[in-house]
Amino acid sequence: MAVKRTPFIAGNWKMNLDHLQSIAFVQKLAWSLSDARHDFADAEVAVFPPFTDLRSVQTLISADSLPISYGAQDVSAHDSGAYTGEISGAFLAALDCRYVIIGHSERRTLHGESDDEVNAKVLAAHRHGLIPVLCVGETAEDLEAHGPSAVPVAQLRAALEGVDGSKGLVVAYEPVWAIGSGQAATPAQAEQVAAALRGVLAEVFSEETAQATRVLYGGSVKAANIASFLREPNVDGALVGGASLDIDEFSSIARFKKHVGA
Ligand code: PEP
Repeated sequence: MAVKRTPFIAGNWKMNLDHLQSIAFVQKLAWSLSDARHDFADAEVAVFPPFTDLRSVQTLISADSLPISYGAQDVSAHDSGAYTGEISGAFLAALDCRYVIIGHSERRTLHGESDDEVNAKVLAAHRHGLIPVLCVGETAEDLEAHGPSAVPVAQLRAALEGVDGSKGLVVAYEPVWAIGSGQAATPAQAEQVAAALRGVLAEVFSEETAQATRVLYGGSVKAANIASFLREPNVDGALVGGASLDIDEFSSIARFKKHVGA
């Protein structure tokens, strides 16, 4: 059963670019993609700016009808109330966010997010019509002790507890040791884990949902290595950190098909 999954190139800006910088950046990114005649059927392009940029990004994208998707980098597990500093999925939906990153390794390690919290955030995103970009991945120690798939598979299973598979999901396999290190996984490693994650989606939801769900690779992706990942049958795109802050590089990553003739 061959299902066509549109490749997804997602830029996680992390805590970079303020709201003024975000406007200039998205405008220039749109120009760069348009100048290069990027075909959005070849790859959907999304940016994930800090919360304070989202209103500016929404205004620009909507006013100029730019074909770029956007989302937030996190969401509260709660819908409203006494949760100082948190951002409700309702607020993100009101800004027309389509996606939200959940369970990024920096949230898991620096903010101590547990699998249960990640699961609660996935459910919260769905309550508000947002599509989670759910991050899973093993540390170097996990890799040594358990191999590449065990931890990401366990994280995915935990995150999907009680989740309705019809509400939309993107899974990002991000080995922690590859994030920001310049040392990407090999395409074969990414494929092995992406295939295992798709297996979990088939078990938890259905084969049809598993085939329709995009599984990304993330960790030191750049223009020079993106095509090698996208050649793998179970890798449907990339979550890009550092390289997403360089317009030419990110635009080049989105155009992976053309610049390497893949
Ligand atoms: C990330 O933070 O999600 C990421 C993949 O970062 P980098 O591309 O810089 O490794």
